[in-house]
Amino acid sequence: MTFVITSGCCNDTSCIPVCPVQCIRPRPGDPDFSTTEQLYIDPATCIDCGACMDECPVSAIHTEWDLPEHLDDYLGINAAYFETNPISESSPPDPIRRRLPADRGRLSVAIVGSGPAGCYAAAELSEIEGVSVSVFERLPTPFGLVRTGVAPDHGNTKLIAKRFGSVLNRPNVRCFFNVEVGVHVSLPELLEHHHAVVWSGGASNDRRLGIPGEDLPGCVSARELVAWYNGHPDFGERRFNLDGPTAVVIGNGNVAFDVARILAQPAASHQSTDMAEHAIEALSRSTISDVIVTGRRGPEFAAYTTGELSGLHHTENVALVARPEEVASVSASTDRRGLILADAAARHRAEGERSITLRYDLRPESINGDGAVESVSFRRPDDTIETIEAPLVVRAIGYRGMPVEGLPFNERSGTLQHLAGSVCDPETDESVVGVYCTGWIKRGANGMIGTNKVDSAETVDSILHDFGAGRLPNPAHDGEQLEKLIRTRQPDLVDKEGWTRIDQTERSLGRKSGRPRQKLVHVQDLVAASHPRDT
Ligand code: FAD
Repeated sequence: MTFVITSGCCNDTSCIPVCPVQCIRPRPGDPDFSTTEQLYIDPATCIDCGACMDECPVSAIHTEWDLPEHLDDYLGINAAYFETNPISESSPPDPIRRRLPADRGRLSVAIVGSGPAGCYAAAELSEIEGVSVSVFERLPTPFGLVRTGVAPDHGNTKLIAKRFGSVLNRPNVRCFFNVEVGVHVSLPELLEHHHAVVWSGGASNDRRLGIPGEDLPGCVSARELVAWYNGHPDFGERRFNLDGPTAVVIGNGNVAFDVARILAQPAASHQSTDMAEHAIEALSRSTISDVIVTGRRGPEFAAYTTGELSGLHHTENVALVARPEEVASVSASTDRRGLILADAAARHRAEGERSITLRYDLRPESINGDGAVESVSFRRPDDTIETIEAPLVVRAIGYRGMPVEGLPFNERSGTLQHLAGSVCDPETDESVVGVYCTGWIKRGANGMIGTNKVDSAETVDSILHDFGAGRLPNPAHDGEQLEKLIRTRQPDLVDKEGWTRIDQTERSLGRKSGRPRQKLVHVQDLVAASHPRDT
């Protein structure tokens, strides 16, 4: 008997140190760790103790005999990994026990952004004796894209918020939510109150196609649509044209698949998720029945993970369709991707049937329409143009970081300039004293939730190194003074207790309709829910 890691794996690696026989791969430091789609358990080495399953923050590990039917193939997927990557080293990785140098006193760190990268940084730092952490978040709610990005039907992935919540609840962590750094408090002011500031603000912009018609109403970014259906307060008032029968999604990554699934499924499928009410309501009036997902190149170059392709294949009430000639390079293969694409190529869509159609080798050429999107044109490898009529075109070609005032920024990658997480000016090679970065603003918009853990660990090591070397001046003021200052500027500050009240309110509203939570979307409603109730 063996345990099996399945598609929901977020690469968080919490399972690795608890495994007594070290049968989980890849491990941080392995050559394929940063690019792996998921972690795998070697069935030949697993001793069936269950420690990994207890530790997994997103419930992605199952016993072999208890694998849900739609995840059946993961037993083979786990075993296949070790055919090409046999285990050669089975000693456990050295546990990292970080300490402050005895002669340097306490260390205080401000973290900007409470997404996965900020939470992992807070976790690593707050474990160290003598460290205090202040977390700043511009929204009244924490966890970044775990709340406002991860698809509502990926409920298990959202369970990671529980683990992040326990970090934010530690006594040496203070929370300043509904506080935007750069608006309510400046970066220099944070440095006056802390030894170091970690910028983990994520990527709040999108990559662009750079083709005519991209700004026509009806051509939207996946970031906007995703934020809207996930109840991000900035997007609550957005409206999208859901008058079908066709919507086109340009892009071939996991986010493109999320968007396609959400648009193609009947609205009733969303009733049991935490999707925002306004989105469920709008999707219930949608007449979209076919979502066409397009890639610029062939399926062998697609960026989506096999797990997400498999999820698309198993989407209830939605047929997955492909054209045999466009998937021929992959569909002859007997691996999981090949089998799914061969099946999709053999599938014929009945008129009006809900479907997701995977199309390849289509380079976007122009978005067309008179005042609003009517169609999108693509260039094919034989230089002919194919035009698909659709009133909604979603660009799912990637998120992009935004510059931060006063910090060196790489325009090409959309990331802060840094060395091992320490922000530095490439012109002078000098670091910006006390300022660090992690997550998407550090490495670009890629990787799973757990990828941010390794990223944040590197940044924390840089902070400790600089602190130990005496490079971080003692702050002029303490945390109490900072809190007073912020409260004068942002009376609607939401602290830990306030967030707990919001969380309880949303869960209790959700319970009434059999959902994990019913999200409050407007900032004023979130702030009102954060206040103690009159008794
Ligand atoms: P974010 O999560 O974006 O967090 C940044 C935070 O900083 C935000 O809360 C923001 O409000 C805050 N902030 C920004 N500027 C300021 C400021 N000036 N002051 C204060 N706060 C600020 N990974 C998986 O493993 N599984 C999945 O199923 C999955 N699904 C995804 C779906 C989508 C649509 C997307 C886009 C990503 C998905 N990911 C998934 C990837 C995962 O969400 C990212 O790896 C992760 O969220 C990046 O973390 P981050 O902390 O760098 O950024």
